[in-house]
This record gives sequence, C-alpha cells and structure tokens, in this order.
Amino acid sequence: MRKTLLITGASTGIGAETARLAARDGWDVALNYRGNTEAAEGVAAELRALGAKAGLLQADMGDPAQVEAMFAAFDARFERLDGFVNNAGVVDTAQRLDEMSAERLQRMFAINTIGALLAAGQAVKRMSTRYGHAGGVIVNVSSAAARLGSGNMYVDYAASKGAIDTMTRGLGDEVAREGIRVVGIRPGLIETPIHAKGGAPNRAEKLSSTVPMGRTGTPDEVAEAIVWLLSDAASYMTACTIDVTGGR
Ligand code: NAP
Repeated sequence: MRKTLLITGASTGIGAETARLAARDGWDVALNYRGNTEAAEGVAAELRALGAKAGLLQADMGDPAQVEAMFAAFDARFERLDGFVNNAGVVDTAQRLDEMSAERLQRMFAINTIGALLAAGQAVKRMSTRYGHAGGVIVNVSSAAARLGSGNMYVDYAASKGAIDTMTRGLGDEVAREGIRVVGIRPGLIETPIHAKGGAPNRAEKLSSTVPMGRTGTPDEVAEAIVWLLSDAASYMTACTIDVTGGR
C-alpha cells in the first residue's frame, strides 16, 4: 500500500521538490500552499503523471484555525498520514532587531514557529500508536540560521527556526515510543524563490563565498535528504537535526 505524505509550503522551492522526489519514491502526497495556486496545481499534475495520488490543501499556516481546517480537509481526502514535512516558511527584509516592528515578529513566529508546532501536534494525533495509528515520520525544515543567528540580516527568522530545532528534540523524545520519528533538517543557502519574496533575490548567490564548498545548494539537494529521513533507511534517527549546507 502506498504511504501518504503531507507537505506544507509545497507550491515552490524545497517543498515542491520534496513532493516530486517523494512521489518517485512511492508516496501519495497532499500539498499545502498559501497563495500560488498555479504553481501548486502544476506540482500536483506532475505527481499524478508519476502515478501518485496528489491533493491540494490551501491554508495559511500562520492562522491556527486554518491549520486545523487543513488537517480536517486532509482527513476527508486521504485515509492515513504516514509522513509530514513541516516546510512552509517565510523570511523578511534585512533589518536590525532594534528596528523590527511587533507586527513583523508576530507574522514571522506565527508562520514559522506557532504554525509548525500546531501542525506537528495535529500530525501526532494522526500517527501515534497512542491514538490507534501505525506511527510515522515528521520532518521539520529548520535553517542553518538557527545555528548562525543571522545578525545584521534577520535575527527574528533565525530565532523562529531555533525554536523548531528545540521542538524537534523535545517532540522526538515525547513520541519516540509511539511509533513516530521526529527529525529536522537545516538547509544552508538554497536557490529558491524565498530570497526574492524577502526582498533580496540575489541573497544566496551573494553569500556563496561564505560556504566552504563555495556554492549555493539546489532544492533537490535538500529534498533528497528529506525523502531519506522519511524512509526506513533512517529508522534509528529521531530527535535530531542534520545540516545540508555545503559545510556552512
Ligand atoms: P519558497 O520557494 O518561498 O517556498 C515556501 C513555501 O511556503 C511556498 O510553497 C509558500 O506558498 C509556502 N508558504 C509561505 N507562507 C505560507 C503560509 N503562511 N502558509 C502556508 N504556506 C506558506 O522557499 P523555500 O526556500 O523552498 O523554503 C522552504 C523552507 O525552507 C522554509 O521553511 C525556509 O525557511 C527553509 N529554508 C530555506 C532556505 C533557502 O535558502 N532557500 C534555507 C534554510 C531554510 P505560496 O508561495 O503558495 O504562498
């Protein structure tokens, strides 16, 4: 039987590439996104062409009511949840912390942190043996920023991802005996639309000299690691986060 994966933020970038690789690996995929319906529909069509079942779940991960509604919509269309990739995320323009507004901080943490924590909780309810399910894997997409702090760029984003690393560790412990592995991944500078959305289209390329490998990464290089973490090949890994950063 094919397993089912739900990926948040799957219309572009790392999420979309994870969906493609997972479909090739035998997963059916539910794709969450917020605004880019055209791109999300395009990814879903690609997955169907690969023989996978694909469904779109539009929801703003920064709105707790929409997170809950998204999981209810998932239940109506898919029978089981075996994998969950907590990937939706945003950055903002480069700013010092002492210049940031409360509204900016609230949006950053609402999407990147609170939405991700709420969604992980919803995933546990659909995977845990405690609730009569067969177990599963949660992959949290953090960032190298969680380690580096992103001073003079976006300390708020880095802090919102630091909380994700802590959640991976704690939730991993919490559900380890309930059939669920919780693992995290910290991408480095990856070529995706996120940099342009945050007002700096060339950010990754500009910083590439700070990467020991001397180059930016591609979404598929991150997606390969995520799909591996989802697989049984990573069966003894939980409550930990790995770097995919070219050494940064
Ligand atoms: P991306 O191409 O901009 O993709 C972000 C995805 O998240 C899109 O599908 C977007 O959907 C969705 N999204 C944004 N806000 C949302 C919301 N409120 N609710 C639901 N979906 C929302 O960027 P990416 O680089 O692939 O980012 C994926 C993850 O990797 C993020 O968590 C990011 O922080 C992390 N990351 C990226 C890098 C990098 O260098 N690219 C490095 C480290 C970590 P719509 O466009 O349809 O709204």
